Amino acid sequence: MSKTAKTLTAIPLGGLGEFGMNMMVLRYGDDIIVIDAGMMFPESELLGVDLVIPDVTYLKQNRANVRAIVLTHGHEDHIGALPYILRDLNVPVYGTRFTLALVKKRLDEAGLLDSVTLREVIAGRVVEIGPYEIEFISVTHSTVDCVALAIRTPLGILIHTGDFKVDQTPVDGGPFDLHAFAKYGNEGVLALFSDSTNVERPGFTPSERAIVPRIEELARAAPCRVILSCFASSIHRIQQVVDVAARVNRKVAFVGRSMIDNVEIAHSLELLRIPDGMVVRPQDIRSFDPKRILILASGSQAEPMSSLSRIAVDNHRHVSVEENDTVILSARIIPGNEKAISRMLDHMFRRRALVYYDNSGGVIHVSGHASQEEQKLMLQLVKPKFFIPVHGEYRHLFRHAALAHQLGAVSEEILLIENGQAIEFAEDGAFRREPVAAGRVLVDSGSLEEIEEVVIRDRRHLSEDGVVVPIIAIDKHTGQLESQPEIVTRGLTSENGQELLIGAREVLMKTVLESNSEENSDWSVIKEKIRVDLKRYINKQTSKRPLILPVILEV
Ligand SMILES: [Zn+2]
Ligand SMILES: [Zn+2]
Repeated sequence: MSKTAKTLTAIPLGGLGEFGMNMMVLRYGDDIIVIDAGMMFPESELLGVDLVIPDVTYLKQNRANVRAIVLTHGHEDHIGALPYILRDLNVPVYGTRFTLALVKKRLDEAGLLDSVTLREVIAGRVVEIGPYEIEFISVTHSTVDCVALAIRTPLGILIHTGDFKVDQTPVDGGPFDLHAFAKYGNEGVLALFSDSTNVERPGFTPSERAIVPRIEELARAAPCRVILSCFASSIHRIQQVVDVAARVNRKVAFVGRSMIDNVEIAHSLELLRIPDGMVVRPQDIRSFDPKRILILASGSQAEPMSSLSRIAVDNHRHVSVEENDTVILSARIIPGNEKAISRMLDHMFRRRALVYYDNSGGVIHVSGHASQEEQKLMLQLVKPKFFIPVHGEYRHLFRHAALAHQLGAVSEEILLIENGQAIEFAEDGAFRREPVAAGRVLVDSGSLEEIEEVVIRDRRHLSEDGVVVPIIAIDKHTGQLESQPEIVTRGLTSENGQELLIGAREVLMKTVLESNSEENSDWSVIKEKIRVDLKRYINKQTSKRPLILPVILEV
């Protein structure tokens, strides 16, 4: 008698159908591991929400079976949800040194550092977690210490690329380990999960080193200060800029919380080499010779309180932009941030700074993600039976699937799935299974609390149609109106505002007078009646739907 065969299921909980909040769940028998736990920044229509994380109801329902969270690298879209998820799903977290250093910082801020087990892994080594045997494979990307995962299960080998590009001349640290992928490809791979981010770009993504000539040229020619902004996690970029500064005889200063933190972490782990005596303290920038300094600032996406945004409007304690200063934006403009970034750059232009923000005059930014030729290379090396495109909006997943189809490197099936859609691998194929709950959880980081969709709906109401607050005084015992009702409005515009208010007051009086004393003394009833009647009236007059919040004063 053979024992019942266990099944292997992959369930994406984030990052398939959107950019950000990457999370993939694997389940063999009862043993669950989670790959990455990312967040994403909210779109502007999510008013007042600080960040968005995946809905992990499935993991909570199976909490006894979750063995670990395994991280590919330290970007926010891969680790940002950890402080929220670990709060009530305390499982060990595996990651490389730099990745865990960033995680430690987040956990420390959330007061969770002492309660979470962190296990450091090294590229090239194998770790056993339950029935899974995981090799961490060194890959190149836009931050340091990044790995792909080769996961050996009783049903076959799964490869998850994490984020990657194939950088043939990496700045330093681990190379892209082509051999490891080829080795697994020759052994036979059940399924490949691969990064789709740049599937719309033909060719190869240039090496990180490609930015050096132009940045050196600009820094050498700069008549005054140089202010360069890049992502604070781009340690290779920062290294190269520090090296350029040394060559053009400028010292460097770091400004911005995230820039300073990441530089400190990377420096302490010897992932960033900064010559002694090279660094100018922020408080010394103003008095330092402008021709001899290069300032590295965070805030490339024009985040409202970031250093670069404040520098642009002359509201930074230590740095201002003056005529002939050189400003270099060495980062991609993330969709959704275009307007804020344009406004920020306009402020710089108004101050007559020399502003460089795209590759039109020479390369000042390269992507960290594989373009089509590298994606093909990955598929050719791994030659999986099944292929599942990950990390992208639906069209990116679709085009990555089409690319694989055209290439013919997938021997059985290309599976186009989105968050929540489970795929079960069995001896005789891969099958779509009952979807699990998946979605977004909105978080207000100040309170660490989840925000419900209904709150967002209210905020949207408020922002579009305003708020109406009818105030009435009712005698609790008699149910009689005690004085003329008041109506306060905010953000409700109408051509005949005064008339509208008079009409609304009449509606309000009528509602109260036509209600019996029982209704009038049951405040939830009278409030609801007022809301319904006022809503109908205001909508008829203005075709708007403001938020109506009746207030009843007890007299
Ligand atoms: Zn990344
Ligand atoms: Zn990513």
